[in-house]
Amino acid sequence: MNIILLGPPGAGKGTVSELLVKEYGIPQISTGDILRGAVKQGSEVGKEAEAYMSAGKLVPDKVIMKIMEKRLQDEDCEKGFILDGFPRTIPQAEQLDDLLDRLGLTLDAVVNLEVPEDIIVRRLTSRRTCSNSDCQAIYNMISKPPKKEGVCDKCGSTLIQRDDETEEAINERLRTYHEQTEPLIQFYSSRDCFMSVPSLDAKIVLKEISGRVAE
Ligand code: ADP
Ligand code: ZN
Repeated sequence: MNIILLGPPGAGKGTVSELLVKEYGIPQISTGDILRGAVKQGSEVGKEAEAYMSAGKLVPDKVIMKIMEKRLQDEDCEKGFILDGFPRTIPQAEQLDDLLDRLGLTLDAVVNLEVPEDIIVRRLTSRRTCSNSDCQAIYNMISKPPKKEGVCDKCGSTLIQRDDETEEAINERLRTYHEQTEPLIQFYSSRDCFMSVPSLDAKIVLKEISGRVAE
């Protein structure tokens, strides 16, 4: 099962991914998580990506494609994968088509998650992330607060607000989304595997996706 999740930042791609991981036993591949891991580690990729990320800008396509080409061939992707936050630009989507061709793979679902902009901003500014780079659990002060304020349920580390989740960075990310990522809806919309669903309740989104791929 090969799935792409599209949608603006804060659309709930992470939450829907978690449900899909449980349902299908395939990994969630988040380019954002991979990049944050690289920055923490101080690797070459991390050094290159850091400035773009904290400014809310996209990391160059070349860097992303190199990461993904490798990641999609890892053993845990044999039964499929959920792409969360990738592709993010038309060139990435075109190069992903080529890559999938070369690997003999096809897409089963490209899911666009629809959310009104005011809800996005509220969701993002209330988001808190676990500071432990091996954990990276995500909470939301409104919809998914931790049991103890400021502390991760899973590993006990401190929760922080990511520096790309200040109001200024969020506005920049939304601008970037409209300019570079939203055109992907048009890019994929004529394909049979494309679907667009309102993303208010992740469980309903999961139902829509499983109903669709089971057809
Ligand atoms: P979001 O909450 O916006 O979905 P992510 O965790 O997916 O955030 O990504 C965080 C940052 O990492 C982005 O703002 C961008 O700088 C970078 N990034 C992640 N995925 C990509 C990608 N596919 N192409 C370019 N940059 C990316
Ligand atoms: Zn944690």
